Parts: sequence; structure tokens; C-alpha cells
Amino acid sequence: MLVLDIGGTKVAAARWVDGRLQDRRQWPMPITPEAWRQTLALMATTYPGVSWVAAAVTGLTDGRVWSAVNQQLISFWDGYALADALTQAWRCPSVLLNDAQAAAWGEFVAGERQPANLLFITLSTGVGGGLVLDGQLRSGSRGLAGHIGHVGSGLAPLDGDTRCGCGRLNCLEALASGTALARQATHLLGRPLDAESVFAGWHAGEAVCSRLLERAAQAVAQALGDAHVLLDLDEVRLGGSVGLAPGMIDAIKQAQQALPARCRVAVSPACLGADAGLIGMGHWASGRPGAP
Ligand SMILES: [Zn+2]
Repeated sequence: MLVLDIGGTKVAAARWVDGRLQDRRQWPMPITPEAWRQTLALMATTYPGVSWVAAAVTGLTDGRVWSAVNQQLISFWDGYALADALTQAWRCPSVLLNDAQAAAWGEFVAGERQPANLLFITLSTGVGGGLVLDGQLRSGSRGLAGHIGHVGSGLAPLDGDTRCGCGRLNCLEALASGTALARQATHLLGRPLDAESVFAGWHAGEAVCSRLLERAAQAVAQALGDAHVLLDLDEVRLGGSVGLAPGMIDAIKQAQQALPARCRVAVSPACLGADAGLIGMGHWASGRPGAP
């Protein structure tokens, strides 16, 4: 089986052999349909002899078609029949799953503990999430389950840009994603900053960066509190470049202290790291009917 992880900035691929990744490679995510077709053709040449393709994708999928939740990410793909394109490229069956849902399943199967009710949340270019409830991956009939990046945070972004790319106001993603941190810092400080510089500023004691990260942590703590009162979670695993950046998890735990005790859920760092989507996809797809 070939597993793919198709995200906002990169496409990763690996063969899934005996429960492990082999021959992992990655390419930048193309920004035009034509460049995407070229990358797909290149991947098909790089990995010949594949009998199944399982792709974890950012955004929304019903298993066959890819749609954007945040229209500002890979907009050219909205409504794209990705599974058919993969089947055509490799001439074999294919299946799609949201990347954070795949990572949630990976965290559940491959982590040290297997909490029956687990929320995986990734703070990265965007904010994604996946739910395992009663030991089963909950993807939903429309693939929407776990999209915690698009719950209303109750807080407005500090640059006043309250409209998320999904169309809602004050989404968690509009406050706490790497893109949102960079956007707010650039507006407030009047010079271009990326998420990494916001973290550097925070650790150096810069007031605006500190305020931005504390507010992002507060928004995450609120969203986790909402998810917990709704679902009675056993654990949350936090991943993504922003989620795993030094200090972020502690800031979220600190922000949780402002909530009533029963709204606080245990948060720990994701175990699978950057390949959680690929690994989770491998485990999940292996269990599908007809999988090799
Ligand atoms: Zn949104």
C-alpha cells in the first residue's frame, strides 16, 4: 500500500509495509492544478507497483472527493475528485481521509496509551482535529467530525480580521493557527513576521508576541473545554508545528486553570510527530475491506 499525506504546504508519501513507513519522500504542495498533475505523475513514477493508495488530506472529504473548509488553503481543489485521480495515476483502488482524523487514529493505535475517547488537535498552518470515541474513529457521514479549528472561539483576533476562511467569525483557526499568529503579529507590529518569529518574540519577552500567544492558548483551552463538556474526553493529544513549539502546551495548561475543574481535560504532546498523518492513514486503511 502507498500512503500519502497531502497538506497545505507539502505532499508526503511512503510505502506502508508490515505496519511501518518505508521509502518516505516529500514534495512541496503545488499551487496550480497543472503543477499538481505534474507532481502526481512524478509520484506515480517514483512509486511503481502499488496495489492500493490511501491519502490523508487537509480539508473535508467524503472518502472520494476533496473540498475546502478554509477557502484560503489550496482553493483550486474545492470539489476535486481526488480519489479518482489517484486511482487513474496508479491504476488501483484508492481511499481518502481527513489528515487530522488519520493522525487521531494513529495516535490511538500507536500511542503508549489507548484512551477510549481521544481528541487529537493539530495547530499548524491551519487548526485541525480528529476524534476517537469509544475506541472508534468518528469521521462523520460528511467527513466533518473533529474540525475543531472551525468552532467559534469566543475571542476575536487582535488584528480585527475576525472572518475565518470558512466563512464563520472568530474561529479557533483565525486565532491560533501559524497563519493567524503571523497575520496578527504582522498587523500589530507593522512588519512581516512568521509564526516562528512570534514564538521567538514571546520567549524574548516581547509584549505583542506574548499577548498573541497567550490569547491563542486561551482560545485553545476554551475550545478543549467545549469539546470536553460535549464529549467527556479522556485525553487530548496536541500536535503540529505551533502545538509542539516550546512553551505552547504549558501555556494551554495554564489557560485551562481559568476554567472550572470539570471543563479541564488532560493534554499531552502527540507521540507520532510529523508523520502522524501517514502512520495513522496506514493503520486506518489497513483495516478497510479489500485492503491488501
Ligand atoms: Zn473557520
